[in-house]
Amino acid sequence: MLGRVVLSREQIANVIRRMAEEIDSDLEGRSPVFIGVLKGCVYFFTALTQELAHSVEVDFIQVSSYGSGTTSSGTVILVKDITADVRDRDVYLVEDIVDTGTTLSDVVHLIRARHPRSVQVVTLLSKPSRRKVEIDVDFLGFEIDDIFVVGFGLDYAEQYRNLPDIHEFVPEGHA
Ligand code: 5GP
Repeated sequence: MLGRVVLSREQIANVIRRMAEEIDSDLEGRSPVFIGVLKGCVYFFTALTQELAHSVEVDFIQVSSYGSGTTSSGTVILVKDITADVRDRDVYLVEDIVDTGTTLSDVVHLIRARHPRSVQVVTLLSKPSRRKVEIDVDFLGFEIDDIFVVGFGLDYAEQYRNLPDIHEFVPEGHA
């Protein structure tokens, strides 16, 4: 069941502007490739990269981790790889949410194996209380409590990604 708005579209837009400013200062003198982790990243990725003053290369990777439920399976399968050559490039990995950290940690390993100059993690949301794998988040939008959220790219069983605000979601039978 779709619940209360946790973050409104205005709050999201404000935080993305703040993050873009921080990232812009970090981009000086770099050779950046922004890699979005599909599909959850798409709304955040486009909004964020369009706020940047610098021109950046964009690419996407898709891994499968969650299935259609609300708990992490802890196994990551590469569904779609990037096409960019990231050797000696500065990679910014863009995620919707870091929960246990499993997905991102696997993606970081995968990218590091291709010898980039640097890898930085950018995420709109983080649930620090759920972390199982330590992960350095370089640019963070909001920290949230241990609740399941949908909207602005985040899904439940592939639904709700296109909602402009971020809502709490309570699966049927869990209310
Ligand atoms: P992790 O590997 O960090 O546990 O999980 C990361 C992935 O789990 C995210 O990319 C996202 O797809 C999914 N996920 C984690 N928490 C939530 C949540 O609250 N809502 C939704 N829709 N997906 C989540």
